[in-house]
Amino acid sequence: MKAKGIHPGLAVIIVGDDPASRIYVNNKKKACEYIGIRSEEYALPAETTQAELLALIDELNQNDALDGILCQLPLPKHIDEKAVIAAISPDKDVDAFHAVNVGKIMIGDYDFLPCTPAGVMELIYESGIDIKGKECVVIGRSNIVGKPMAMLLLHDHGTVTICHSKTKDLAETVRRADIVVAAVGVPELITGDMVKEGAVVIDVGMNRLPDGRLTGDVHFESAAEKAEAITPVPGGVGPMTIAMLMKNTVKAALLHHNEK
Ligand code: NAD
Repeated sequence: MKAKGIHPGLAVIIVGDDPASRIYVNNKKKACEYIGIRSEEYALPAETTQAELLALIDELNQNDALDGILCQLPLPKHIDEKAVIAAISPDKDVDAFHAVNVGKIMIGDYDFLPCTPAGVMELIYESGIDIKGKECVVIGRSNIVGKPMAMLLLHDHGTVTICHSKTKDLAETVRRADIVVAAVGVPELITGDMVKEGAVVIDVGMNRLPDGRLTGDVHFESAAEKAEAITPVPGGVGPMTIAMLMKNTVKAALLHHNEK
């Protein structure tokens, strides 16, 4: 890419001083530096108005030196996240949250995939696990993880069930699964007795316990006794999410320069 004069650039916006968001943004910037993506941080105070944030996004949309724009979520309560996501130009939307990109994923014809579900798929592929015809259970139905995750497993011919906070018998549903993806935000909700012998267990959860420890949505020790393959927290899906962000930024830069 360098030989062709393409030098990918990513704008990273962070509003306020949420400590978890600060860690995520720093990790993303470190990854950019590591692979040679130019990252520009826009750290705005918590009192930033929605109009100010939208004006910045407008400016970044027009900035030809930037290929990707990422606005770290969650945003302070007085800012409408939907309006912010909608303001990012779809061709710079490296998180793939914009309705245009979500729609493209739905019909299976997309440029960008949302980073966390894409990272999970990459883990499955690299482990040589075949999804076709498998019972896949996704726990969580957020726009960022659960819903697109289910769609990607479906595209790969999984038989997909989505569980959520109103699901009647979570344990029984999870017990049927050949592939379980937990994206809930409840520490160690999924225990070994809910896991089928030989299942693949992917833990998206990142929960900070009162003692400062980071834990997933799966009780690792008991689930590992049953699972054929399992991801740890930390060190599982998290780093993959960042890798997929890098991939999307590179892709955005290639598309921007009319290269595929
Ligand atoms: P969210 O809060 O938007 O969604 C949580 C989902 O879980 C909801 O759909 C809800 O219906 C469901 N749920 C809640 N309680 C439940 C229960 N008892 N049983 C079944 N379903 C239940 O969260 P999110 O943004 O999708 O994130 C989920 C988790 O993944 C969080 O821990 C988050 O920190 C983590 N996460 C990790 C990464 C990563 O890079 N590893 C990226 C995004 C999110």
